[in-house]
Amino acid sequence: MSDPVVVIGAGVVGVMTARALRLRGAEVVVVDALPGAAEMCSRGNAGMLAVGHAKAWAEPAAIPALLRALVGREPSVKVTRPFDPALWRWGVEFLRHCTPAANARNTSAEQRLSRFSRDRLAAAEAEMGLPVDTWHEGALYLFQDAAQFARYRAKLPEGGEITALSREELVAREPSLAAMGERLAGGLLSRIDSVGDCALFTRRTAAWLGGAGVAMRFETRVTGFAQSLGRITAVETDRGPIACSAVVLATGVETADLTRPLGFVPQIYPVKGYSGTWRITDPAGVPRLPFVDETELLAVANYGDRLRVTAIAEFAGRDRSLPPARTALLDAYVRRRFGAAVDLETPEFWTGLRPTTPAGPPYLGRVRTHSNLWINAGHGQLGWTMSLGAGEILAQAMAGEPPALRDISSRARWLDAI
Ligand SMILES: Cc1cc2nc3c(=O)[nH]c(=O)nc-3n(C[C@H](O)[C@H](O)[C@H](O)COP(=O)(O)OP(=O)(O)OC[C@H]3O[C@@H](n4cnc5c(N)ncnc54)[C@H](O)[C@@H]3O)c2cc1C
Repeated sequence: MSDPVVVIGAGVVGVMTARALRLRGAEVVVVDALPGAAEMCSRGNAGMLAVGHAKAWAEPAAIPALLRALVGREPSVKVTRPFDPALWRWGVEFLRHCTPAANARNTSAEQRLSRFSRDRLAAAEAEMGLPVDTWHEGALYLFQDAAQFARYRAKLPEGGEITALSREELVAREPSLAAMGERLAGGLLSRIDSVGDCALFTRRTAAWLGGAGVAMRFETRVTGFAQSLGRITAVETDRGPIACSAVVLATGVETADLTRPLGFVPQIYPVKGYSGTWRITDPAGVPRLPFVDETELLAVANYGDRLRVTAIAEFAGRDRSLPPARTALLDAYVRRRFGAAVDLETPEFWTGLRPTTPAGPPYLGRVRTHSNLWINAGHGQLGWTMSLGAGEILAQAMAGEPPALRDISSRARWLDAI
């Protein structure tokens, strides 16, 4: 029997990659330092498969926004470690991608990968016999500023997948949005978006993989690699080595820790975000569809029994603290709009570090220096949205099949990017 493929990382990206490899008959071992799947960034995210909203953050308008954030004048973007050298290296690359041409290329990559991924989600649930826990009725993008709404409305793509709704149409569809008052100027309905609990789906898939012959090694930290003739021969861990035929790095914000000794450093900066989750006590008092408040820049998702609100992009290095000022923002939003419909006493607050590349798309492909080392990391604000597709496409490339999509990876000198 040949040595297994070792997937490092049991977040949503690693687990979906392991699934795609296993479905092709590969022997697979998944290794993660934490006690279970989806314990890092995949744990408390908004859960939106934001296909209609998939766009690269690096765009011309991001430059003034970053400058405002540096002087503390951008409510949803914070720079709390402005002198972090890793941030400056990342920032220089980010600025290079802020041109209209680079933004168009990167946004196209994210949109194609997101759509490919979303199209596979319902089928994946059915294939694995998982309870159906993702909803595919779309998502709303709401505006409290009429001029902002008019600008978005004027740029609507053709094809009818995204349509504009007046305040009255929104409230007729989702009566609980009346709680937003007269300030609600209008919104967009993106029919191609979905929502579901990313951690639940990842953990259920991990359990399914366990039953399908994949070894899940939790509480096992990868510390390095044994190499010979340009190949990784074994993954070194704090519980001993694991011989391997190939390795996939699905290690999110920690990827560079493992690759630096191998001679390359993926630019993946941790962009911190926050979420709060409240138990729903009155289902009629919260919107059924997930929504993004485009004016206050928060996302709200209804999982049936829980309401989750997420916000903020903060450049704070690897800091994982939960400052009360940040959680208060989420708390105040929920109290103002949906306070009568949730249990305000027991919110669960969380923070996660979005693994974010300067260009936007993840690093996806084979590392040039090692013939059997692959990477699937850096999915930023869209990791859940792109995970099934990115896993599938990497597995295709590893199996020597022509990848279903091309030009979807961030580019780098050290990478044969797909
Ligand atoms: C507030 C917030 C809201 C978000 N909302 C959305 C959303 O609505 N839709 C969406 O698509 N995305 C969203 N995201 C982004 C999404 O959560 C991430 O892109 C995604 O979770 C990244 O998954 P990952 O598997 O790459 O990383 P992770 O989930 O962080 O997994 C990486 C894993 O690698 C393991 N690991 C690392 N190094 C080692 C090592 N040396 N040895 C062993 N194990 C190791 C870690 O323990 C970890 O489990 C949001 C993120 C945040 C913070």
